[in-house]
Amino acid sequence: MIRIPFNKPYMTGQELGYIAEAHANLHLAGDGMFTRRCHAWLEHRTGTRKALLTHSCTAALEMAAILADIGPGDEIIMPSYTFVSTANAFVLRGGVPVFVDIRADTLNLDETRIEAAITPRTRAIVPVHYAGVSCEMDTIMSIASQYDLRVIEDAAQGVTSSYKGRALGSIGDLGAYSFHETKNVISGEGGGLLVNSPDFVSRAEIIREKGTDRSRYFRGEVDKYTWQEVGSSFLPGELIAAFLWAQLEQADRITKERLSTWEYYHDALAELESRGKLRRPIIPADCAHNAHMYYVLLAPGIDRQTVLNELKRCGIGAVFHYVPLHSSPAGKILGRAADELPVTDALAARLIRLPLWVGITHTQQEEVVNVLSRAVGTAG
Ligand SMILES: *Cc1c(COP(=O)(O)O)cnc(C)c1O
Repeated sequence: MIRIPFNKPYMTGQELGYIAEAHANLHLAGDGMFTRRCHAWLEHRTGTRKALLTHSCTAALEMAAILADIGPGDEIIMPSYTFVSTANAFVLRGGVPVFVDIRADTLNLDETRIEAAITPRTRAIVPVHYAGVSCEMDTIMSIASQYDLRVIEDAAQGVTSSYKGRALGSIGDLGAYSFHETKNVISGEGGGLLVNSPDFVSRAEIIREKGTDRSRYFRGEVDKYTWQEVGSSFLPGELIAAFLWAQLEQADRITKERLSTWEYYHDALAELESRGKLRRPIIPADCAHNAHMYYVLLAPGIDRQTVLNELKRCGIGAVFHYVPLHSSPAGKILGRAADELPVTDALAARLIRLPLWVGITHTQQEEVVNVLSRAVGTAG
């Protein structure tokens, strides 16, 4: 029996009230009052030109691939150590993910290996801000401008995080957020696209509304709406936006509480790190993170499955991810590794994520640390 779950969705208490309001307003389709509030919040907080809610981060990445005009054979540089949607969005347009190794400290795309992976077919770079900790964006942006590439940030995990004071997702041409139940700020399924380049704004609205200029029609800018270009239905209904608004209002408090939980693990695990049993996360000075995740990298030689089994036996929901995309069944066919990926291969096999959610108590965290400490002592 799992007594300390890996994740527990946090409700602020206002969700049902706002959903009732949307219900009473008789506005259930997308782009109503709650969607507009969420857009305004995201624009204000990130400084992006235009924020657009989507069904998921996956959908936002798919929109980004359309906006970036990705076509058959175009290559997109990304880490292999990421969620499948980072790659799928581009594969759907015929693009080929080119996997580059990650940095050992942050597990983010290694910016020093990007240039060697660029070919005449390269169209975009997709930095993934793992655990809500930023990639080295200054370097990535300067490589992109030198080679005329688009930058699409997979900031699924990075809501409220920043790099040198700038919100993640607001630095590249486009940025994608996730509000999935397993993220920090949630709406069940949900996401958002940050459109930072002004030249993408009107096309983004069109692609999100089935390829039509319906948004312009609703603003009274055209007297009927028509099919303008390829698109799909990427916008969520108002009930989802109402739920999300209750969360965005409390986003700073959620971040603060998660950070305090994160710090507690970080302090409590310092001793195991100094004894060489594991490595704790490393946060570069330029990055303000949102405590999306607490992970540890077990020392080489400690068997991860034995540790996970012991945590489970003691009622603790710890998990690992990702199977690197270059070694997954679809990744081998649909993408290619730019080179050897030694850091990805080594670190992906050593990582464990610990329970982290708003409301977990210090007593529960202490128990996680005690069980982990015992398990790494006997599993190696
Ligand atoms: C969660 C996640 C996604 C997908 O988010 P959805 O909202 O579930 O589509 C994409 N990329 C990364 C890095 C993620 O962590």
